[in-house]
Amino acid sequence: MLDLVVMKFGGSSVANTEKIINVATRVTDKSKKYRVVVVVSAPGDMTDDLIDKAKSINESPDPREMDMLLATGEMQSIALLSMAIKSKGFNAISLTGPQAGIYADSVHTKAKIKKIRPKKIVTELQKGKIVIVAGFQGLNPNDDIATLGRGGSDLTAVALAAALKAKECEIYTDVNGVYTTDPRLIPEAKRLDKISYDEMLELAGVGSQVMMSRSIEVAKKYNVDIHVRSTFSDANGTIITKEVPKMEDVVVSGVAYDKNEAKLSVTDIPDKPGIAAKIFGALSKKNINVDMIIQSAAREKYNDISFTVSKNDLKNATSILKQISRTLNAGPVIYDENVAKISIVGIGMRSHSGVAAKMFKILANEGINIQMISTSEIKISCIISNKDTNRAVRILHKQFGLG
Ligand code: ADP
Ligand code: ASP
Ligand code: MG
Repeated sequence: MLDLVVMKFGGSSVANTEKIINVATRVTDKSKKYRVVVVVSAPGDMTDDLIDKAKSINESPDPREMDMLLATGEMQSIALLSMAIKSKGFNAISLTGPQAGIYADSVHTKAKIKKIRPKKIVTELQKGKIVIVAGFQGLNPNDDIATLGRGGSDLTAVALAAALKAKECEIYTDVNGVYTTDPRLIPEAKRLDKISYDEMLELAGVGSQVMMSRSIEVAKKYNVDIHVRSTFSDANGTIITKEVPKMEDVVVSGVAYDKNEAKLSVTDIPDKPGIAAKIFGALSKKNINVDMIIQSAAREKYNDISFTVSKNDLKNATSILKQISRTLNAGPVIYDENVAKISIVGIGMRSHSGVAAKMFKILANEGINIQMISTSEIKISCIISNKDTNRAVRILHKQFGLG
């Protein structure tokens, strides 16, 4: 039996008829040597446009109906791609997430994949068909459509590659691999031949849009090799795989930025046990993910807690915090949307000291103020003012020798 490959095409790869026909050619070429499962995203900016449309009707749209709407984007792509493949004389079938056996949990608009029962995919592959699956969607326990969070087609692709024991998962996009930083912002960025799951996880987690971070978690767990490459060229891209030994001592592998976070602070909170648990418990109950957290040292038995959330969650988070602040007799809740997170990532940090100090010095020399800091074993992130983002990324990329 031929090996199986999962090919995923992002929104920019299927943005119009010409591009869909180009994808059909790539897929049919591949199908001469492999069994192929294709995952596609909604065309172009359709998901953004659908969100805007929903919000023009209702500022806080019902999440179930929102998922019903968003799932239609990917459904257009699968049907059109299947038609394009058939008109080239190949056999294909399009499947929605639920038809493909993708089962999700019940958190609308950011559901997690619970399990995959790829019975229909396997049956159709056995009939010699190219199977085209709608990314970003699954069936939840109420038999409703749930979407998997922005960028979720990457997750569909990697999860299917794991479930079907594919030889490789190819992510086709508008850049030909993973770069040392966003090549759209910094043209000197360099393509990486290989990157480890851990580094890619951190890069994706701190804003490198090229891969959804949850998809890398799944890839690492199930050991799925990912090849990120261009839809529009045959050049090799970047392999994301287990830790790759580096010839030279590279300390920092990449720089990332994220303009999608907002900073929130609850001020003058009475300093006693259980307060943080109360605040973050309430946010987690509403499925609001918190990123960086800092608590100031207590002065006069009061302190402040600041943290960041996704801009989409800011409104909900603020109203929850205002309620809590009242019940705790704390001070005002303050928020700032004009912030950005910049991060440096590299496995080499494990064995090098002084990397954080160097990053802070580079920013200081540029007169860029750091508002919050968080670190992991292989990552350092800083919250800065939004207006300083491009300058910070450019200078860090240069000073860490990545250009
Ligand atoms: P798709 O629609 O194919 O899913 P995305 O827009 O989600 O594509 O991701 C590709 C984009 O990610 C690129 O156009 C690029 O601007 C951006 N990007 C950000 N950081 C990086 C990076 N380190 N390497 C490559 N691309 C990056
Ligand atoms: N269409 C969805 C989004 O824009 C999923 C994806 O493209 O991966 O987030
Ligand atoms: Mg994407």
